[in-house]
Amino acid sequence: MSGLTGGCLCGAVRYEVSGAPVAARLCYCRVCQYLACGGPAANIQVRAADVSLTGALKDYCSVADSGNAMRRRFCPECGTHVTSASSARPDFLVLRVGTLDDPEQGRPQMAIWTSRAPQWMCMAPGLPKFAEQPPTR
Ligand SMILES: [Zn+2]
Ligand SMILES: [Zn+2]
Repeated sequence: MSGLTGGCLCGAVRYEVSGAPVAARLCYCRVCQYLACGGPAANIQVRAADVSLTGALKDYCSVADSGNAMRRRFCPECGTHVTSASSARPDFLVLRVGTLDDPEQGRPQMAIWTSRAPQWMCMAPGLPKFAEQPPTR
């Protein structure tokens, strides 16, 4: 899988990824519930060096439940969250699957931080689940 393209809802931000994702995950952490309007965030992790991005993003920095400093970036025009980067893995960039031109390319391989989900939330069947942060490969 390569040649990923995507962008924000209004089109001001666009990106291309030359390499294949290294991970695809559903994250149920409390912060992702804010970003994903109550559901889990679907994320793919790619090599930061593989990403070329155009358009202005605004930063929101915070400390995640994992203890890592996160730099989340969104389009200031339409509010779409596009990327996230963790202080623990500076060579990698997280892209929000909802921003892919073809979200089929973002099929998750695991569900993480499931202990933070409210009881009514649907869990994707057939995926390995981690109550908190999965082991780093
Ligand atoms: Zn936008
Ligand atoms: Zn999360």
